[in-house]
Amino acid sequence: MTHESRIRAETLAVHADQDVEETADVAPPIHMTSTFAASSAAEFAEMATVPRHPRYYTRDGNPTHQRVEAVIAALEGGEGATVTASGMGAISTTLLSLVRAGDHVVAQRNHYMGSSKLLGELLPRFGVGVTLVDQTDVDAFREAITDRTVVVMVETPSNPTCQLTDLAAVAALARERGVTTICDNTFASPINQRPLDLGIDVVVHSGTKYLGGHHDLLAGAIVTTNERLDEIWHTSQVLGAVLGPLDAWLMLRGIRTLPIRVRQHNETGCAVANWLERQPKVAAVHYPGLPSHPQHELARRQMTGFGGTFSFQVDSGYAETERFMAGLRMTRQAVSLGGLETLAVHAAAMWNGFLSDEQVREAGVEPNMVRISLGLEAAEDIVADLEGALGAV
Ligand SMILES: *Cc1c(COP(=O)(O)O)cnc(C)c1O
Repeated sequence: MTHESRIRAETLAVHADQDVEETADVAPPIHMTSTFAASSAAEFAEMATVPRHPRYYTRDGNPTHQRVEAVIAALEGGEGATVTASGMGAISTTLLSLVRAGDHVVAQRNHYMGSSKLLGELLPRFGVGVTLVDQTDVDAFREAITDRTVVVMVETPSNPTCQLTDLAAVAALARERGVTTICDNTFASPINQRPLDLGIDVVVHSGTKYLGGHHDLLAGAIVTTNERLDEIWHTSQVLGAVLGPLDAWLMLRGIRTLPIRVRQHNETGCAVANWLERQPKVAAVHYPGLPSHPQHELARRQMTGFGGTFSFQVDSGYAETERFMAGLRMTRQAVSLGGLETLAVHAAAMWNGFLSDEQVREAGVEPNMVRISLGLEAAEDIVADLEGALGAV
């Protein structure tokens, strides 16, 4: 579609893929095929040389991928996108395509735990240096960049503490030093935050969360310039984190309603965070939309909504928090976020399963912290469930 910047997200989500293929089907077809036939020897020889060819071999590309890629790129305001088999597929493919032995990466102390492991364990195995900084401190990013730094990676709001990174400031100082910036935009979704508009070079997503939105698939996405995507493609091809066409189609179907779902998540998020903040048995609420959030001003500057996933702390310890979790009825205890159903996790229990005690502390996870992903149920019913569980504390 032309004039994309003037078309609203609700419309882009429905129509941004309309030029990908000519078909009378109103709902898009699923190209459930691993390979595509060429019509001549010359065409075959040509297909083999084109990066991200949509009709050669599905590890390279597929028209169903192309459709959902067109929509994600339009929503993020990027030139193009590549979908992957999971969010970690997107993050590992992007990072591994940009670094070489001897290079240096600056990232946050509190990333999604898979990213923390990639940065803290896998990259150093291949001779890549990593410095982790406090995401709320712009100067810490500046000071950490060396002559060997090739990537600055950020994630905002971060998981589960909902701390923010100043995207425009970090993007500007990295650009000055010729360093590529990557932002994990999973929590905000392009409806609440568009990092490319703020100067970030590459956006990555766990499409498993808000983009898919129905807790029924795993997927990832990388959004950046077409030139950079062609480069990343050489790595994605050999790493092979390929999204199945059916899951690409499911993500496309989910994304059609992303703008209206996120609007509702934002509304419920504000209502529930405000209610929680008034409860005597709640010690703290970490929601960027609350005026009490230490970075509320920054949130208002770089986000257009504050989402439905955040954390809060139960008064007062691990055992009381376990009782709270046991008191939930409608809300299920499950990892993941961004779908129709409200899900909650006792954060310390979850993080301890994956990370060392030191990494858990670095992630800012307190023993009494609950992460909640508000679904699309009525806010009143979510509040009633939380009220019942607080009664058990
Ligand atoms: C879930 C998540 C990921 C990883 O995505 P998967 O699809 O589970 O691989 C990365 N970053 C953030 C912020 C996430 O929430």
